[in-house]
Amino acid sequence: MTAEAKITGRKYKAYTRKDIDRIPELQALPPNEMLSVKAVSAVLPFRVNRYVIEELIRWEDVPDDPIYQLTFPQRGMLDRKDLSRMMELVWSNSPAKELNAAARQIQTGLNPHPAGQMEFNVPRLGQEPLQGMQHKYRETVLFFPSQGQTCHAYCTYCFRWPQFVGMDELKFASRETEKLVDYLKQHREVTSVLFTGGDPLIMKTAVLRRYLEPLLSPELDHLVSIRLGTKATAYWPYRFLTDPDADDLLRLFEEVQQAGKHLAVMSHYSHPRELRTPAAHAAARRILASGAAIRCQAPLIRHVNDDPDVWADMWRSQVQLGAVPYYMFVERDTGPKNYFEVPLADAAEIFRTAYKRVSGLARTVRGPSMSATPGKVVVDGVSEIYGQRVFVLRFLQGRDPDWVGRPFFAQYDPEATWLDDLRPAFGQKQFFFERVLRQIKRNGDTQTWRKRAPSQQRLKIFGDAD
Ligand SMILES: *Cc1c(COP(=O)(O)O)cnc(C)c1O
Repeated sequence: MTAEAKITGRKYKAYTRKDIDRIPELQALPPNEMLSVKAVSAVLPFRVNRYVIEELIRWEDVPDDPIYQLTFPQRGMLDRKDLSRMMELVWSNSPAKELNAAARQIQTGLNPHPAGQMEFNVPRLGQEPLQGMQHKYRETVLFFPSQGQTCHAYCTYCFRWPQFVGMDELKFASRETEKLVDYLKQHREVTSVLFTGGDPLIMKTAVLRRYLEPLLSPELDHLVSIRLGTKATAYWPYRFLTDPDADDLLRLFEEVQQAGKHLAVMSHYSHPRELRTPAAHAAARRILASGAAIRCQAPLIRHVNDDPDVWADMWRSQVQLGAVPYYMFVERDTGPKNYFEVPLADAAEIFRTAYKRVSGLARTVRGPSMSATPGKVVVDGVSEIYGQRVFVLRFLQGRDPDWVGRPFFAQYDPEATWLDDLRPAFGQKQFFFERVLRQIKRNGDTQTWRKRAPSQQRLKIFGDAD
């Protein structure tokens, strides 16, 4: 294809905290901006690359530019006291030891692992807990390959980034996959494995292959799809184009399809600009030509994409490329939350306004959806029932599969930003799922679907005692 032929390769060059002085574009900004970037990046991770700097950020709009907000640490991410403390330490050239101690103290006060992710979702093989896996919803296992725990650039609102492990990559990959395969053999209810991270496409193709190929075994014929959650299509499209192992990656995608599985690249696109560059187009075209699908998801983030025009534009651009809009997420509390958060009422309105403006082909998207402790809960909208204003909510995924698809209602609250802030409407004491959720928490047994026959999975929606 001609558009593809025109892409010239780029060598990947990342900047982290220690390189901040070497980013020429930053030098042109007021000195205070550089100082705050340094101060915040001592606390929260920072990584950006030349492609993002040159082709995605519009420097004349900085600091308001959405991609700058998405990738460069912002002063609003720390509370005022912490920010001035860090800025002072940086400004006075304090020793690294002192700076790091202050940063550590601030980090400890943040909340990097929300929604019971750590306690409840780790599956077991026999008695052995399987680190690096989560099995929260019956049909889907999340897998965090240890070699995929970083990204081509970091999003400011995310810092679930474990350290890179310096082990023999290939050997480690095989050992981890062996456990995953054993687990899947015993869990024939699982039809989808989602590789996530970090970003699994940070891995060299040879390493990724070690993870994927064992999943193609005929013994795992219940496995329908393999998904790769990635930001590479937005932050580093050359991963699919001109990197030394790009061709091999596409070949691997083909092999997955030839083995009878569906491969879905779950692309994290936060802003339409990420879809506009020639490299982004060419990358999407190549992925689709391999037979893989691209499904698109992103959280709704203040300062980045809290605007219905941005979403409508993004969904249209995705459809135009042949990609499928999939989820709009509500940003969850991972620390610098207040800076990025959007109230649920506003999120629902942004979603609806954007959704109204696109054709049915883009309305495959669901949202705004919260990945909360009981499950993925979508705000279907705001309604008025017998004079009471309510949020209409629904599980897209539930810790108990039987929760899915039951509309339920919460009192309207313009300030609520998360499921925990909501109260049941119509005088109910609790939401229909809360009793079972408490049981799950008490027993520490999350896989409700393995215990109960389908006939027992029925719950009374209203009027649960307890
Ligand atoms: C979103 C999510 C999945 C995948 O859900 P789908 O509805 O199949 O896309 C799986 N596990 C967890 C923990 C999730 O948050």
